[in-house]
Amino acid sequence: MKSDVIIVGGGVIGLVTALELLEAGYSVRILEREKLGTGASQGNCGLITPSHALPLTRPGTVRKALVSMLRSNSPLYIRPRLDLSLMSWGLDFSRHCNRPSMLRTMFARSDLLSRSRMLYEEMIEKHGLDCEWEKRGLLIAFATSRLLDKEAAADEELSALGVDITHLSGEELSEREPALRENLAGASWFPQDAHLRPDRLIAELERLVRDKGAEIDEGQEVTGFCIELGRVTHVQTDTGLRAAKHFLIATGAWSPELARTLQLRLPIQPGKGYSITMPRPEICPTTPLILAEPSMAVTPWASGLRLGGTMEFAGYDKTLRENRLEALTKGAGRFLKSNLNSGVKERWCGWRPMTPNELPIIDRVPELENLFVAAGHGMMGVSMAPATAQLVRHLIDGEDVDLDPAPFRIGGIR
Ligand SMILES: Cc1cc2nc3c(=O)[nH]c(=O)nc-3n(C[C@H](O)[C@H](O)[C@H](O)COP(=O)(O)OP(=O)(O)OC[C@H]3O[C@@H](n4cnc5c(N)ncnc54)[C@H](O)[C@@H]3O)c2cc1C
Repeated sequence: MKSDVIIVGGGVIGLVTALELLEAGYSVRILEREKLGTGASQGNCGLITPSHALPLTRPGTVRKALVSMLRSNSPLYIRPRLDLSLMSWGLDFSRHCNRPSMLRTMFARSDLLSRSRMLYEEMIEKHGLDCEWEKRGLLIAFATSRLLDKEAAADEELSALGVDITHLSGEELSEREPALRENLAGASWFPQDAHLRPDRLIAELERLVRDKGAEIDEGQEVTGFCIELGRVTHVQTDTGLRAAKHFLIATGAWSPELARTLQLRLPIQPGKGYSITMPRPEICPTTPLILAEPSMAVTPWASGLRLGGTMEFAGYDKTLRENRLEALTKGAGRFLKSNLNSGVKERWCGWRPMTPNELPIIDRVPELENLFVAAGHGMMGVSMAPATAQLVRHLIDGEDVDLDPAPFRIGGIR
C-alpha cells in the first residue's frame, strides 16, 4: 500500500518524526536496514541538553584538535589517512571556528535544543513513555581550575543566551554530589537539563508508532530513488520498490551514502563514540555528569549507569577499541567514588552524524518537491529530535512552527 510518508532510517530522528507525522494524520512507513536504534540512537548517553547550545566550532578548537589528533587514547582522535571528504570536511570545520560563526550556530542550536526539551516533557507525559525520564539537570565537573577558568567564557555566552547556570566550588560540588571525589576544582550546574534511557526511548517510540499504525520494515536497505518530473515516486530497496507521496532521509551518519545516489553532497562525517553500561553501583551519582578533562559523560538511571564519550574520525570502522573503552573507565575513576568494575553489561560504539558547523541539515532536497533530509545532528540528536520532527512536518505541509528553518538548509550556510 502507498504510504503518505516513507522515512528511511529508524533512529531517534526517524522515529520521533514518524510520531509527529502520525499525530498529524499521515500514514507512515519506516524502512530500516538493520534494527530500529542500531545506529547511534540506543547506546548513547541520553542527555537532553539545552546547556549545549555552544558548538565545538569555537576559536581555539582547531589548535586543540591538532594537538590531540594523533594520540589514540585522547578524547578526540583522527586516524591519519588519505580521505578527501574528511579533509574537505576538516577545512569547512576550521572555517567555522570563529566567533561570529560560533554565535550564529549557538542561536540556531539553542532554538532546537530548548524547544525539544519542552516538547520531550509534553510527549513523555502525553503518551506515558516509560524511558526513565528525569529532570535532574546536568553537572559539568572539573578536576583542575585551569580548565574551569577557561570554560568561564563559554558560560558567559550561555548565560547571555538565557541558559540557567550556577557555579559550584569544589566543596559545594562534593556536598551536592557525594559520589564525586572530594578533590575536584568545581562545576557548572545546569538545572534545565534532563535525561532519559535512550534504548528505552527507542523501544517505547516503536511501540507507540506501531500502535498509531506505522508500518516498520526492518532489515530493508534503501539503495536509491526513482524520480519522475521532479518528484520521487519510489525508493529502491533490496527487496523491491516502495511508493509514497513524501520521503525523508533520516539515515544519520550514513546519509551522505544515500544522498550520493542523487548527486547530492551532504557534508556529514561519522564521529565514532563509545559507551559502557553497567548495573547501578552502590555509590552512584544522582545527577548526570560531564567530566571535563576526559571529556566524557556519566548517566545514572534507576536501572544502571552508562559512561560514554570519545570522538574518533576513523570512517565506519566497527572495531571496539580496548584503549578507548579503558579511557572511559579510567576517566570516570578519576572523578567518581563508584565501583566501576562490578560487571559490565554492554560495550558499544556508534557513529555521530557530524556536520562541519555543528548544525543539523533539515531541509527539502533542491529540485525534488517531495524529498526531505533530517540528518547531521552530531552529538545532540536525541536532544534535538522533537523540534527536528516539527520542522520536518512544517516542510512537508507548511504547518506553522516557531523555528527559523534557514540555519538548517542544505547549502546556504555551510
Ligand atoms: C557515545 C555517544 C554518546 C551520545 N550521547 C548523546 C546524548 O547524551 N545526547 C544526545 O542528544 N545525543 C547523544 N549522542 C548523539 C546521538 O546518539 C545521535 O545524534 C543520534 O542518535 C542520531 O540519530 P539519527 O536518527 O540521526 O541516526 P541513527 O541513530 O544513526 O539512525 C540512522 C539509522 O539509519 C539506518 N540506515 C542507514 N542507512 C540506511 C539505508 N540506506 N536504508 C535504511 N536504513 C538505513 C541505520 O541503520 C540507523 O539505524 C551520542 C552519540 C554517541 C556516539
